[in-house]
Amino acid sequence: MKRIALWVALAGVVIVAGGWLATLSPDVDVWLYRQMAQRVLHAPPVLANPGELSVLLCGTGSPLPDRSRAGPCALIAAGGDYYLVDAGLDSARNLMLWQIPLDRIRGVFLTHMHSDHIAELGEIRLQTWVAGRNAPLKVYGPPGIETVVAGFNEAYALDSGYRTAHHGAAFLPPGAAALAAVPLPLGNADARVMMLAGGLKVTAIRVNHGPVKPAYGYRFDYNGRSVVISGDTSPDENLARAARGADVLVHEALSPELVAILGHALQAAGRVRTAKIMHDIPGYHTSPVDAARIANEAHVRFLVYTHLLPVLPDAIAERAFLRGVSGVRPAGVTLGQDGLLVRLPPHSAEIEQSVVE
Ligand SMILES: [Zn+2]
Ligand SMILES: [Zn+2]
Repeated sequence: MKRIALWVALAGVVIVAGGWLATLSPDVDVWLYRQMAQRVLHAPPVLANPGELSVLLCGTGSPLPDRSRAGPCALIAAGGDYYLVDAGLDSARNLMLWQIPLDRIRGVFLTHMHSDHIAELGEIRLQTWVAGRNAPLKVYGPPGIETVVAGFNEAYALDSGYRTAHHGAAFLPPGAAALAAVPLPLGNADARVMMLAGGLKVTAIRVNHGPVKPAYGYRFDYNGRSVVISGDTSPDENLARAARGADVLVHEALSPELVAILGHALQAAGRVRTAKIMHDIPGYHTSPVDAARIANEAHVRFLVYTHLLPVLPDAIAERAFLRGVSGVRPAGVTLGQDGLLVRLPPHSAEIEQSVVE
C-alpha cells in the first residue's frame, strides 16, 4: 500500500513539473535557439594557407536531381583569393551552408553554357555582393558568355535595386552589383594562358563536348602546384596534353553501363522522353575508365571524379560506377563528393584531403 502511495506521489510530481516546464517552454525554446545560433556560426573554414593552392568541390552532380550532390561547381583557392569554376544548381547553397567567405571570390570561370553549369550564376552575383564585393564580378568563359551574363544582369536588376533601396548604397553599392563578362577566345589554339594574377596562372583548354562549341576545361597553376578541371567532355587528347604533370585532375564521368540500365528502366516505365536523353548523353561525356586513362596519360598525381552520371544513391552503385577503374589506375583516384577539399602546399608533393561541412 505504501509503495502504491509512493508511485502516486511521484506521478503527481512529474505531472506538476511537466506543467511548469510547459509554461516556461517559450523562454526555454528561445534560450536553446540562442545556444544553437552561437554554435552554428563557426569561423569560416580555411581553404588554403598563404601560398597554397586548393580545390573545393561545391557540386559534383549533373542535371539529374540528386539529394546529396549539387550541380557542377569547383572553388579554386590560391591563398586568400577564390575563383569559381561553374555554378550548378544548389552550389551557392553549399557555399553558404559551409560559411565560405564569398567576398573573396574574385571571378567565375564558366566551362560552357549548358544550363547545369550556369544555374546559380544569379545567386552567386547576389551573394558575393551581399558578402561585401565592391566591384562588378568578372565572369570568364568561351565566347557567348556575354549573352549569358547580360541575361542574368537583366533578370536580377530589379532585385538589386530593391536591396540597395532597403539597405543603403553604402552597404550595397549599385555599381558593384553586376556581373562583367570576359570572353576568352581561343582562336585556333588548343590551349592558351588567359589570366595571370598574384602568381596564379589560368589556362583555358579546348575540350570536346559537341554540339557545344567551344567548351573549355581550365588549368590553374600556383606556386609549383596545379589543378585541372575538365569541364564536360568526351575523352580528349588535348585535355591530356594540357593536364600534363598536374597535381589534381577533376574530371567529369558518366558510366555508359549504368546510364543504359537507367535508360531501359525509364523506357519500361513509360518515361520515354527521359529514356531518350539517357540514350543521347554518353557520346559527349567520358567513362570513369577512360578518365583514368586520360589521367595516366597526363601523369597527373590525383584524379577526382565529378559531374557524376547517373545518380549514385549508395555504396553499391558507387562500386558499380567505378568498375574497371582499378585495373587501369590502382591508386591516386577517388570519387568526388560535395565538400571534398584537396589542398596542395606550395612547392611540395603533398596532397591533403578533407571534407568541409
Ligand atoms: Zn554538364
Ligand atoms: Zn555540358
